[in-house]
Amino acid sequence: MPAIPLVRPSDGVRCSAGCHEVTAASVADAGYGGRIRRARQVMEEQGIDVLLLSIGSDLPYLTGYEAMPLERLTMGVITQADATLVVPQLEAPRVVERAAFELVPWAETEDPIAIVGRLMGSSRAIAVGAQTWARFLISLQAAAPTARFTDATAVMRPLRIIKDDDEIELLRRAGAAADRVVERLHDLRFSGKSESALAREVMEMTVEEGHDTAAFQVVASGPNAASPHHEPGGRQITPGDCVVIDFGGRVGGYCSDTTRTFHVGEPAGDFAEAFEALHGAQLAGTAAAAPGAAAHDVDRAARSVLDDAGWGDWFIHRTGHGIGLDAHEDPYLVEGNTEILRPGMAFSVEPGVYVAGKWGMRIEDIVVCTTAGNETLNNSPRRLAIVE
Ligand code: ZN
Ligand code: ZN
Repeated sequence: MPAIPLVRPSDGVRCSAGCHEVTAASVADAGYGGRIRRARQVMEEQGIDVLLLSIGSDLPYLTGYEAMPLERLTMGVITQADATLVVPQLEAPRVVERAAFELVPWAETEDPIAIVGRLMGSSRAIAVGAQTWARFLISLQAAAPTARFTDATAVMRPLRIIKDDDEIELLRRAGAAADRVVERLHDLRFSGKSESALAREVMEMTVEEGHDTAAFQVVASGPNAASPHHEPGGRQITPGDCVVIDFGGRVGGYCSDTTRTFHVGEPAGDFAEAFEALHGAQLAGTAAAAPGAAAHDVDRAARSVLDDAGWGDWFIHRTGHGIGLDAHEDPYLVEGNTEILRPGMAFSVEPGVYVAGKWGMRIEDIVVCTTAGNETLNNSPRRLAIVE
């Protein structure tokens, strides 16, 4: 496949969630209308008069438009009667207009807080998107001094945690694109490359294999692999190194996130034995990810395999996180989270073993809970990949 640039020139500046592709890919007007209707049902159940959404993924989930994180206010204002998208006039050309909401651009000399205030009317219970800048929230509170402001996560979480068919299809496409990158990694020569050079190749392949944008690349070699979120640097990869590669991109706004562990030449010492246990832990975690299980049952299933093999003390993070428009979102697969898994929930299953100063390893797939059990969206080989 020919190389294509990371940002296609015709698209200009792309929002980080690639929300325009959500639109183009598969979510029709009716899809957004249905999501806004469900948000209104939840608002009614919770006694919320108005939902105010600014930057972050809640607004594109409901409208297909992602606010730029700017000093100029963008805000979705949703009441039982109306859904309005208030945007800076110069951003209005980026909005794909939809039947589900009315577009209200504001000119440079207008006061957007006053416009949102008018749309809120006499609302008393106001739910505000969790990532809204404090300066906007403080101004809104001043404009409505007797209103009660709460975190809109309570409204949006029950919607976003269950993915609809459009969302699962985009996650599936993102997962398949990530798998094609992993297949190409198997044929690469690692030895002699720096981590950052390999990370650059992963980034390019992430786009070449079908993502709209590349989001992140962890390339961690040798002792650096003991740091789960290692920032790739100038370290040269040499024979005898393990290399953990964790990367992702977006398709139609939806994230991929997968990790595979490579080894330059055959591993020595107890690495292979630990990897066997890790592989078993990852499979056990996935097998436990079925409807009716609690989120922490997945963590327990993976962790118990590593505990039994004597590696549990080196598994230093939760087993997984939800994924969708955000790379990390609910549900979190961590001890103490008793939320029951339901069909449509999507999350990573990613146990790891990290021995400080020596090596690290991780295997990560995205898994969707289905009525029958689950569907694994990453299917590239999970076994330790021996490379040159
Ligand atoms: Zn990852
Ligand atoms: Zn992850």
